[in-house]
Amino acid sequence: MDYQKLFKVEPGTKVDLDKIDPRFTANHSNKVSAETEMAKYTRSLCDLQYLLYAENKKSLLICLQALDAGGKDGTINHVFTAFNPQGTRVYGFKIPTKEEAEHDFLWRVHKRVPAKGEVSIFNRSHYEDVLVVRVHNLAPKDVWSKRYEAIIDFEKDLADNGTKILKFYLHISPDEQLRRFEQRLNDPTRHWKISEYDYSERELWKEYMKAYEDALSKTSTKYAPWYIIPADRKWFRNLAISKIVAETMEGLNSKTPKPTVDIEEIRTKYHNAATEEKGDPHNKKAQKKDKGKKKKRAAQQAEQKLKDEKKKKKKEKKEEKKAAKENKGQNQDKG
Ligand code: ATP
Ligand code: MG
Repeated sequence: MDYQKLFKVEPGTKVDLDKIDPRFTANHSNKVSAETEMAKYTRSLCDLQYLLYAENKKSLLICLQALDAGGKDGTINHVFTAFNPQGTRVYGFKIPTKEEAEHDFLWRVHKRVPAKGEVSIFNRSHYEDVLVVRVHNLAPKDVWSKRYEAIIDFEKDLADNGTKILKFYLHISPDEQLRRFEQRLNDPTRHWKISEYDYSERELWKEYMKAYEDALSKTSTKYAPWYIIPADRKWFRNLAISKIVAETMEGLNSKTPKPTVDIEEIRTKYHNAATEEKGDPHNKKAQKKDKGKKKKRAAQQAEQKLKDEKKKKKKEKKEEKKAAKENKGQNQDKG
């Protein structure tokens, strides 16, 4: 099934989130039926990130947006662990610090965009500045309403510099959110994840949906598309995101770079010489032969040592005899 086509917000279209079923699971009826497909994309993600990193030319930026308990953390944990931490960075965007608040809203974001060869995953993002800021009137309308254009320009600039951008809105239902809050309440290891703020934000569900609909409609572009992922079923959310990211990365056509050295020369001139000197640790036959040679050489050396010692003793005896003879002659002369 073409999840890109199904879930992409076509640039210029108006989003109506009410019309999108958060429980949708395409042709899968349960987690087990999706597992084989999921395993395939996990392997692809691993291989493709290796190529992106090795090629070191393009980069990937993934933005995750959702309401509380929408599954941003779970997606990072289940989908993006396929990536090697070397070359992958995850950034969470919370209430701006004093220093961040003293700058323009893109300042803290721009510092965290991926360098060539890297992947950056944003857990919340610059979109909070047209979502929570709008819903809570943290800035006047004439300030936040200009930010859509600023975001479009910013993302276009990144795209022009070789960054592929994918943005996911994890669409959950209010019922599913409440169920997840309850799970957090019932699990002491997850108590740290819940607060009264989650319930007060929930009261603003309608306002948030309106803000999300505007953001998704106004900022889905060809070079930085939004995908609305039905996210009530965690396993389907993971599958859909894995597939979309893997297919997008395939399209980047990353390749391992051509060697800058002459591999044959390295093999014959350096590697073979180093192997002969050290003995190839993987070649058992050569190792055995080497051992035999060493033994023979040790026996020869021992034999030579014995011969040398005998020779030395013979020489010493001869010298002793000579000295005794000379001594005798001198005594006779004196007499
Ligand atoms: P979870 O989904 O597990 O609750 P979280 O992303 O909500 O995780 P929290 O520490 O609970 O993490 O919340 C971070 C808060 O920071 C969110 O309520 C978010 O709206 C807020 N935030 C992020 N960016 C901004 C911003 N630019 N201005 C104001 N608030 C922001
Ligand atoms: Mg929260």
